Amino acid sequence: MLLRMSTLFLRTLREDPADAEVPSHKLLVRAGYVRRVAPGVYSWLPLGKIVLENVARVVREEMNAMGGQEVLFPALLPREYYEATGRWSEYGDTLFRLKDRKGADYLLGPTHEEMFTDMVKGEYSSYKDYPVTLYQIQTKYRDEARPRAGILRGREFVMKDSYSFDLDDDGLKRSYEQHREAYIKLFDRLGIDYKICFAMSGAMGGSASEEFLAPAETGEDTFVACRNCGYAANAEAVLTPPPAPVTGERPALRVLDTPGTPTIETLVSYVNEHYGLGVTAADTLKNVVVKVRVPGAAEAETLVIGVPGDREVDFKRLEASLSPGVPEIFEAADFARHPGLVRGYIGPQVLKELGIRYLVDPRVVEGSSWVTGANEPGRHAAHVVAGRDFEPDGTVEAAEVRAGDDCPRCGHAVAIDRGIEIGHIFQLGRKYADAAGLDALGPDGKPIRITMGSYGVGVSRAVAVLAEQRHDALGLVWPREVAPADVHVVGTGKDNQVEVALRLAEELQAKGLRVLVDDRPSVSPGVKFKDAELLGVPTILIVGRGLAQGVVELRDRLTGEKQEIPLTDATARVVEACAV
Ligand code: ATP
Ligand code: MG
Repeated sequence: MLLRMSTLFLRTLREDPADAEVPSHKLLVRAGYVRRVAPGVYSWLPLGKIVLENVARVVREEMNAMGGQEVLFPALLPREYYEATGRWSEYGDTLFRLKDRKGADYLLGPTHEEMFTDMVKGEYSSYKDYPVTLYQIQTKYRDEARPRAGILRGREFVMKDSYSFDLDDDGLKRSYEQHREAYIKLFDRLGIDYKICFAMSGAMGGSASEEFLAPAETGEDTFVACRNCGYAANAEAVLTPPPAPVTGERPALRVLDTPGTPTIETLVSYVNEHYGLGVTAADTLKNVVVKVRVPGAAEAETLVIGVPGDREVDFKRLEASLSPGVPEIFEAADFARHPGLVRGYIGPQVLKELGIRYLVDPRVVEGSSWVTGANEPGRHAAHVVAGRDFEPDGTVEAAEVRAGDDCPRCGHAVAIDRGIEIGHIFQLGRKYADAAGLDALGPDGKPIRITMGSYGVGVSRAVAVLAEQRHDALGLVWPREVAPADVHVVGTGKDNQVEVALRLAEELQAKGLRVLVDDRPSVSPGVKFKDAELLGVPTILIVGRGLAQGVVELRDRLTGEKQEIPLTDATARVVEACAV
């Protein structure tokens, strides 16, 4: 490959795009890799397309190496497959739905479990056919609520999705392990820094699941990491270890006047000062009302969530816990319809009477005593005991997790980090096989229900994650495997520098390297250097002022190291630099 910048379809920008907040977005736009078409919808320019294809190639090679077979489904799909599994409605607003000219319903595939299940059902019938793993690298569509950060969270994006089909649970575990290994290899090759975290299954409905999260400040996923035992889990998957139930005599519930206490802090200092309770925020019970809409259901349910007052409700954790139900903020208008819920003073004591379900944080154990709302303006209640003064309808993992919380595995204090999900492996089980009736005929002539796994890699997202994790103040710094070229030869000067640069570029190409050469005739050296730094090719060879003395400069984009080398050695030295 030899790309000449004099003709390359590329215009770099000096300014960050106005809508960009995260480094990867700014840099990929500035360096001319992608261009925005609509929110969450991007075009790939030549250099971006090369990087995207490089990521796809690595993913494909590792999927093939583990025995996966590549297929390709359409993105445009008829409603019926997703109707059969309930996902036509479960997906809610995230699904792009459309109609054809005859009025038939279609969707743009957000993920393809249904289609793969159906394909296998169509082709395979005997137990001898199994196991099988199929995958595709394809464009997916999700009308994300918050498309964000350029290609990091797109509404159209490229995903590798694979599916394993096995006869029994042991087979599924093997397929899952193989995928896990393949993901480790491919993310290592891509040069992405990642952590494997326990995950929650969300809308998929199933059991074991892990996410590959790329640590990044700009990440939307919060994960818990224990530096002591190595436990790592997506915040949504963290289970709160419940304290032991409390027994023994407790003072009777007492209603207290608490004027001017709109916040937990003001409440705590008021009750301590006026009633000598000696409590902290963690002894108060905060009750948050939400509306929960189960996709397809006619009406939203009003639900109250109880968490210790020193913690916020983490909406992502709540969402994951209630999935496929979708929690929404309870607005002033909703309160107006529920006069029993006194805003700011809600206590669980009345919820049974009001017919409202109450889910609590696991710390709210039987016998625990709380300061909470008294369901009257300006009043709270103390000594409100779980199991005596109110009876929760169940627990919910909704309270935020915090640094210093107990590790669910070893009890040590955990750290909280942020990351971007780049891959997800998931033992689905039989949900989709059940919906489709996917059976294999067993050796005894009896049908065996197939069990499945589903496994995703964010291919386009990986490009953004690399940009996020690997850049500096000057621009992008691609790992060699995905870089748009191995070497960027810059010819700059008024003599024969560009000519020599082109000759070197051809020699390097002949050695099997992928070469980008800056042969633009009337562009200043400063601009050429800036562009080379911005574009992020790992090795840079500069044919400039030193040419008259027979020297060129070899630069390492990652370390910034610069060396003058004899022109005569240039090809060999570049080949050497690109081999590592
Ligand atoms: P997220 O939690 O980030 O929304 P998800 O759990 O919905 O992702 P999966 O359904 O597991 O995603 O999809 C598999 C992979 O596809 C993810 O691990 C991620 O890398 C990628 N992916 C998902 N949504 C997007 C998106 N909107 N834009 C780009 N890549 C995405
Ligand atoms: Mg996921």
